[in-house]
Amino acid sequence: MERLSDFAVQEFVALRRDIHRHPELAFDEHRTSALVAQKLQAWGYAVTTGLGGTGVVGQLRRGNSRRAIGLRADMDALPIVEDSGADWTSCHHGVMHACGHDGHTAMLLAAAQHLATRGTFDGTLNLIFQPAEEGGGGAVKMMEDGLFERFPCDAIFAMHNMPGFAQGQLVFRSGPTMASSDYATVTLHGVGGHGAMPHKATDVVVAAASIVMALQTVVSRHVDPMQPAVVTVGAVHAGQANNVIPASARLELSVRALDPQVRRSVEQRIRELVRLQADSFGVRAELDWRPGYAVLVNDARQTELALAVAQAHFPPEQVVAQGPMLTGSEDFAFMLERVPGSYLFIGNGTGQEPGACMVHNPAYDFNDHNIATGSAYWIALVGELLSPTHP
Ligand SMILES: [Zn+2]
Ligand SMILES: [Zn+2]
Repeated sequence: MERLSDFAVQEFVALRRDIHRHPELAFDEHRTSALVAQKLQAWGYAVTTGLGGTGVVGQLRRGNSRRAIGLRADMDALPIVEDSGADWTSCHHGVMHACGHDGHTAMLLAAAQHLATRGTFDGTLNLIFQPAEEGGGGAVKMMEDGLFERFPCDAIFAMHNMPGFAQGQLVFRSGPTMASSDYATVTLHGVGGHGAMPHKATDVVVAAASIVMALQTVVSRHVDPMQPAVVTVGAVHAGQANNVIPASARLELSVRALDPQVRRSVEQRIRELVRLQADSFGVRAELDWRPGYAVLVNDARQTELALAVAQAHFPPEQVVAQGPMLTGSEDFAFMLERVPGSYLFIGNGTGQEPGACMVHNPAYDFNDHNIATGSAYWIALVGELLSPTHP
């Protein structure tokens, strides 16, 4: 199998730690984006910057095949105070690469350099470095700037590290893989009053409590037990004092599903429950529904191809053909709605291994052993999908 030399691995481990030390929040990835663009340019890629703000595309054409593929890495960090204890701890207090996007960027750059100097592929390689995966929808912003019109791709791929899987394990899944993620705010309006005279008020606290309980029946009594879904009330705000009935209350909901139809039906059920519950208590409910990321659906054919590449180049125990669904979400889902492709996980470590700490935790760190593994996978994928001997 083609892989990076030890020397090259060290170079990209150092680069990963440099990016880790200088994390940048969504749409603010100026240093990271400039670094990516400068490297790609130096290796001979045609570089386009400024897509979706700080997004970068590096394009490399070889041979005369019209086939084109896209590989995506994300670049943004999170608003978390780092407590990893690493020598390369963030120098921006309160900003941290707690999801390993520093590693995703470094793995793709490592593959980029190798493919530019030694790649014998035939076709067009588009490397997509996107901003703002963490809630900002950077993928959508890049598409709004014409990503796939300017850089057409027959298939697209992305890789995310995942603690809980052994380091370097490559985990594939065909079909729905990551959840949709929607946000809802319920505001209740009643009539405030004295806590001693509830009959003169319309109490939003009791209505809110009842709505929170009623929402527990959406998943348990409304959704097919074979279909995963989540309704979480993550915040309840009402009142200040023990003897005052407040005039309004607010609930914040997070709603997830792994099937577009379940997603729609959960939304409809929540809307009904909130309205009918509020009516029964004589309060008025306003519901502000904000759709977030879509369900991430891996294309069956492209996943089969991506899996076959892993099976041909890695030992069997390192490859999982059909991993679990996750209730996290990912805006690569929107790219997959436009172009068929597949999103895989690379194990960051499990048990006592370094890298076992979950993403979004202040103690998390990307496992640098994956620089070699992840880049080797990207190189193998490009070699197979854009093979010069491809029919
Ligand atoms: Zn994340
Ligand atoms: Zn992430």
